[in-house]
Amino acid sequence: MLPLKEEILHGIYDAFAEWSAGFTFACKENCAVCCTQNVTITAVEGEVVHRWIREKGCELWLAESLQKKGATSRPRMTTNDFAGACLQGEEGQPEQYGNMSPCPFLENRCCRIYEVRPFSCRCFASEQSCSSGDSALLPEYYLSASTAVMQIIEHLGQGEYWGNMLDVLAALCDLPENKRYATLLPASFADQSRVQLVKAKPLPGFLLLEDEMEKVAPLLEAIFTRKVGGKSVESILNGR
Ligand code: SF4
Ligand code: SF4
Repeated sequence: MLPLKEEILHGIYDAFAEWSAGFTFACKENCAVCCTQNVTITAVEGEVVHRWIREKGCELWLAESLQKKGATSRPRMTTNDFAGACLQGEEGQPEQYGNMSPCPFLENRCCRIYEVRPFSCRCFASEQSCSSGDSALLPEYYLSASTAVMQIIEHLGQGEYWGNMLDVLAALCDLPENKRYATLLPASFADQSRVQLVKAKPLPGFLLLEDEMEKVAPLLEAIFTRKVGGKSVESILNGR
């Protein structure tokens, strides 16, 4: 049986996949320009990836891939930090950070961890092909819905690691169930990654505009009313 948070996370992934099935995207297999080292995740998403790696026995591959991460500035403000600042009327721009080099999990332009890829990868899409240098194109309400789901996932992992995917995965190599990495990664690799991370924050409220609410509400309802272990996700997220 999966831990509760991982079960909730899979339910959120499923609800988003069902809701977004109504869009037509230009994304095709082997189109991977958007797969960069600029993905942020929470610890629970990282734990899902690690569980899959252990089941497949791919620890050596992961250890080698993690060491390809580029040194770059990392985000200090989480999605919920940013939402909280906006809701309080503070003016600000999203942080500029990240590394646009290819994600080390790309192999032959396919994602090696596709079935357990984090939410940031699941929601990234485009209605026009951006493989030839054009920007990704998405309806505003799709972007707002994706941000709302990121906020819920962050709330689920509040108090735990939040940050660049490669740093979160490296930091989690220290968990007792991941002790194999002690011989596969340089000493202090996990510690050096951990200092790049911040803590996930609780949900301060959504940034949805009134006219987006009608389109996004079915997605939020599908997430919040989902039952896990006999309780609704909403009541679990509210600590009841
Ligand atoms: S978002 Fe753009 S680069 Fe990524 S798969 Fe879709 S079309 Fe390709
Ligand atoms: S984890 Fe997979 S889907 Fe996400 S950026 Fe890396 S290769 Fe792309």
